[in-house]
Amino acid sequence: MISSSAKIDLHTHSLRSDGRGSPSQVMKEAAAAGLDIVALTDHDTISGWAEAAHAALEVGLGFVPGIEVTTRALVKDPDGREHKFSVHMLAYLPDPNNAALAQVLAESVDSRKVRLQGITDLLAQDYDITWDHVEAELESGKTAGRPAIADAMILRGIIADRSEFFDFVFPGSKYYVPNRGVPETYEAISLIRRAGGVPVIAHPMARGTGPRPGEPMPVRHFETMIEAGLAGFEAYHRDVPAHVAQWLEMMAFKHSLVLTGSSDYHGTGKPNRLGENRTAAEMLQRILDQATGATATLVD
Ligand code: AMP
Ligand code: ZN
Ligand code: FE
Ligand code: FE
Repeated sequence: MISSSAKIDLHTHSLRSDGRGSPSQVMKEAAAAGLDIVALTDHDTISGWAEAAHAALEVGLGFVPGIEVTTRALVKDPDGREHKFSVHMLAYLPDPNNAALAQVLAESVDSRKVRLQGITDLLAQDYDITWDHVEAELESGKTAGRPAIADAMILRGIIADRSEFFDFVFPGSKYYVPNRGVPETYEAISLIRRAGGVPVIAHPMARGTGPRPGEPMPVRHFETMIEAGLAGFEAYHRDVPAHVAQWLEMMAFKHSLVLTGSSDYHGTGKPNRLGENRTAAEMLQRILDQATGATATLVD
C-alpha cells in the first residue's frame, strides 16, 4: 500500500528526450523537492529508465517507469470533416521487452528526426540555422524534438529561451511540419495495453487545443479512446484549463477511470516545477494494479 500522504509526480523528462537534466539529476532533484514517488516519462524512449531507477533507489525515492508516447489522432466530425492532431499518451509500466512497442517507438524516434530536419530547413530560409547546428544538440540515443532546434537557436543567440521558439513554430505556423511516422492514437492505446502498460492521456486538450468554456466537448473521440483501453486522464497539469479538468472528472467518474496530476518537468527547459501538480496515492495504486509489464520500485 502506498501511504495516502505520499507526494507523487508522474510526468518528468530528462535529457534522454527534451529535458535538461540527466535521469539521475531529475531523481535527485525530485527527492530534494520533497517528492516520494516519481515517474520518468521521456518522449518515445525507455533509455533513461535504468539510470533513473538506480538513482531513485540511492536517494530513497519511489520510481515508476513510463514513456510519453507521441501519437496522431485522425478524428472525423459528424459532418465528415477530418481533423488530425497530435496526442501525447503516457504509458506507465509497459514491458520494456515488448517487441511491437519497441518497434513503434523506434519508428517514431526515426521519424521525429526526419521531421526536425524538415522544420530546420524551413527555418533556415529566414534564420541563421542549419541541420548541423541542430544535430549538435542531439546526443546519441536522445529523442529528437522541437526543443533541440530551440536550443540550437538559443546557442546561436537568435532567441532567448524555448518559449520564444514555440511562439513561432506551432501547428499551423509556416515553419511547422507534423510528425507523420507515429502511431495512430487508438492503436497506440491498445499497443500499450498489449505490452502490459497503462495508458493515460497526457495534458488532454492543453491550452488552446480544446473547446472553449461552453463549447461542446469531443465526447465521441474520448469514448473511442476509452473503448480502445484508455486508463485515465492527466487532468491536473498546468496546461489543462479548469473547465476541461472538470469535464474530465465527470468522464472519469462515469467510466471508472484514473485521474492523475503531474508537473511535466523539463529541468531548465520549461518553467514547470517538480511536484507543482501531483497524483493521489489511490490513483497510482489503481495504475499499479492494472500494470503487468515493468515493475515500479516503491520504497517504504
Ligand atoms: P515536439 O516533441 O517536437 O512536438 O515538441 C514538443 C515539446 O516541446 C513538448 O515536450 C513540450 O514539453 C515542449 N514545449 C512545448 N511548448 C514549450 C514552451 N513554450 N517552452 C518550452 N518547451 C515547450
Ligand atoms: Zn517534452
Ligand atoms: Fe506532452
Ligand atoms: Fe511531457
